[in-house]
Amino acid sequence: MSVAKALTGTCFCRTVRYEVVDEFRYAMNCHCSNCRRTTGSAFKPFAGIEREKVAITQGAEALMVHGDDKANNTHCRLCGSLLFSVVRDGAFVHVAMGTLVDAPSIRPARHIFVGSKAPWFTITDDLPQHAEFP
Ligand SMILES: [Zn+2]
Ligand SMILES: [Zn+2]
Repeated sequence: MSVAKALTGTCFCRTVRYEVVDEFRYAMNCHCSNCRRTTGSAFKPFAGIEREKVAITQGAEALMVHGDDKANNTHCRLCGSLLFSVVRDGAFVHVAMGTLVDAPSIRPARHIFVGSKAPWFTITDDLPQHAEFP
């Protein structure tokens, strides 16, 4: 029997650490204005997984949850890093892939919400592009 590897992630100041099983169901680059603002980036690479496969292993007292238990952005309140979002009525987590320490097996497979992409950013790869959520 093979046991899936646990990946570590952390915030900019390293106060919060989490573990996630390397069993992401999907990964995408989201160009929507909300993802651009929460990350300060042109787009957000994120990977989706069942919520129970993500666990805070350090610094739970330092979390800042923007939203409620079933839909939120979870940050470190000391440094502000966006670690992950709770989505799909609380069933899934979208990990902000930039906070992963270990490389996951999955790779972002498409660009979504390209219809609201930053005009100053040009997509230069050949991944499929979707105007909104596919
Ligand atoms: Zn931090
Ligand atoms: Zn988005």
